[in-house]
Amino acid sequence: MPIQICSTCGTSYPDTDAPPSRCPICDDERQYVPRGGQAWISRERLASGHVNAWRHLETDLFEIHTHPQFGIGQRALLLRTSEGNILWDCIALLDDATEALVRALGGLRAIAISHPHYYTCMQDWARAFECPVHLHEADADWVMRADSRIRHWSGETLELAQGVTLLRLGGHFPGGTVLHWADGAGGRGAILSGDIMQVAADLNRVSFLWSYPNMMPLAAMTVRRIAETVAQWRFERVYGAFPGRQVMAGGAQAVQRSAARYIELLERGQP
Ligand SMILES: [Zn+2]
Ligand SMILES: [Zn+2]
Repeated sequence: MPIQICSTCGTSYPDTDAPPSRCPICDDERQYVPRGGQAWISRERLASGHVNAWRHLETDLFEIHTHPQFGIGQRALLLRTSEGNILWDCIALLDDATEALVRALGGLRAIAISHPHYYTCMQDWARAFECPVHLHEADADWVMRADSRIRHWSGETLELAQGVTLLRLGGHFPGGTVLHWADGAGGRGAILSGDIMQVAADLNRVSFLWSYPNMMPLAAMTVRRIAETVAQWRFERVYGAFPGRQVMAGGAQAVQRSAARYIELLERGQP
């Protein structure tokens, strides 16, 4: 039987005779079940109706995004390093074209994912490129399809390659992770942030939510801790979860300004 993928969030489930009755990722208040009920799609049907589009964001950084939009609509980022390519965050669709293109770029050394909403079909990507998937252990219960290539890391940082470091920030999920890329932005540094620091519509601001679809905030103390943690890292750019969502200059200041304003609104309210 085919691997079943949740159409709402893109999470894949072990092959069973019938689709699962529920998607725990969507049942959680940080996601949602559509009014029409949960729907499922096979990898084959997903590939027959969708393609992946690529964008070159800067030297050594590509975006991969599925069209028409599928699931949550996030992008994966392919980061090239002298030690091999790293896939940051994941998408459900790994079609033949994408596999051939990633292979032509040298395959993957590792996959790292910010939080469970983007675990999607990481197992298929890991299998295709014979590489590990690095997930923070605090979110281990959210893996819906076990795989021997999944490695749970602990602590606050994990260096994947020289100048490429995972930082656990928590917040949206306890194991919420961002990737610091020292060589990004021409050596001024970049953060690949997923939903953990969400690049906002004006592209000069980020936000921090417990639930994005249900618009539920984080505590001020959590946002303060996130801001203090990233303040120790140098970066100019912040690449968020969705196409077009990046802070291109002054990223570190934008994060601090955004966190301070968020805390001010929570603690002091509006006049
Ligand atoms: Zn789901
Ligand atoms: Zn999320």
